[in-house]
Amino acid sequence: MKTDARPIPAFKRKKCMACKICVDDCPVSCIGVAPSGSAKDPHGYPFLEDETRCIHCGQCADNCPVEAIRMVAA
Ligand code: SF4
Ligand code: SF4
Repeated sequence: MKTDARPIPAFKRKKCMACKICVDDCPVSCIGVAPSGSAKDPHGYPFLEDETRCIHCGQCADNCPVEAIRMVAA
């Protein structure tokens, strides 16, 4: 059976430390990281800005230092 597996990133927001490595590494600039909004909360909120631009390369998941990103079936 042929499947069209085109995975996209899914985010574990409680792990994200808002380093923005994923933002810098994405070759098509389709990830954003919003601040938590609280000075006491060091986490960020990564999100896919535009799913249609994602080229499914997995670089964001590979380079996240805290494994806050994994590639999942779209
Ligand atoms: S690389 Fe990981 S920890 Fe850093 S901002 Fe992206 S999701 Fe968060
Ligand atoms: S899989 Fe590649 S293109 Fe898609 S968001 Fe991650 S780094 Fe960007």
